[in-house]
Amino acid sequence: MINAQTQLYGIIGNPVRHSLSPIIHNGAFRRMGLNAAYLAFEVENLAAAISGIRGLGIRGVSVTIPFKTAIIPFLDQLEEVAGKIQAVNTICHEGGKLIGHNTDWRGAVEALEEKIELREKKVLLLGAGGAARAIAFGLQERGCQVFIANRSLEKGRKLAATMGFACLPLAAIKGLDVQVIINATSVGMHPQDSESPWPKELLKEGIVVMDIVYQPVRTKFLHEAEERGCRTIDGLEMLARQGAAQIEIWTGKKPDIRSIKGDLQRALE
Ligand code: NAP
Repeated sequence: MINAQTQLYGIIGNPVRHSLSPIIHNGAFRRMGLNAAYLAFEVENLAAAISGIRGLGIRGVSVTIPFKTAIIPFLDQLEEVAGKIQAVNTICHEGGKLIGHNTDWRGAVEALEEKIELREKKVLLLGAGGAARAIAFGLQERGCQVFIANRSLEKGRKLAATMGFACLPLAAIKGLDVQVIINATSVGMHPQDSESPWPKELLKEGIVVMDIVYQPVRTKFLHEAEERGCRTIDGLEMLARQGAAQIEIWTGKKPDIRSIKGDLQRALE
């Protein structure tokens, strides 16, 4: 029950009314027996929102598009990996200080590690946007050899150069022998459900294929990967895990991932 002791958490972004984060966090808080509530705030003025977080003592905040980088100058401290990625998706309000973290990379890496030991594996990362950038840092952290492919070659090259990875033209990438392929583009996302970011005939049996798109949960890419005998990971795995990592930062307690995923699946049905 919400009472005078309830701790407030939330998400800031714009737009934010479609966000699944309140489903993740309120469900987990309830199961963990925490006296906490989580709301979505559609923010127009970031500076005013930050003053609100400080002034009202909001305990923890998720940050989404378009504020993941813009928020950095407003924070008192930046955790190391968030600083390297230059993107914050989590704020922890602790001892009067706002500390920025990034849990997107952890969500992706932990989902992959359920299926494969990542060290020294060859990974093809499709995309060079915000999510791809966080995942690239996670893969670097785990000692993977990463090849980046992106529609805008220049953007792909820039990300690859930052990380010390390769960015190959499509023709060269098609011949690559990789153990993991990750779709971090928005190709295949509703309403473009009939598209896939990678040709089916190039998917080799036994490799791990992860799609971070979660609407729909079973994308065409994952469907074709299953038909080719690949081991697949859907976008809800990363989504649930990045949220679980936020709760761990805020409360020091680990929520149950499977229950979070169940809540998300029911919300999307
Ligand atoms: P973003 O920064 O806008 O990047 C979009 C990426 O997709 C870019 O690499 C872009 O290539 C590529 N792209 C878009 N349309 C394309 C097309 N028609 N053909 C080829 N490439 C195309 O977006 P983001 O924040 O990284 O998000 C990307 C996707 O991941 C979204 O579907 C989002 O919902 C999902 N996501 C999932 C999670 C999760 O937890 N599961 C977390 C974050 C994001 P260019 O550089 O050439 O434009």
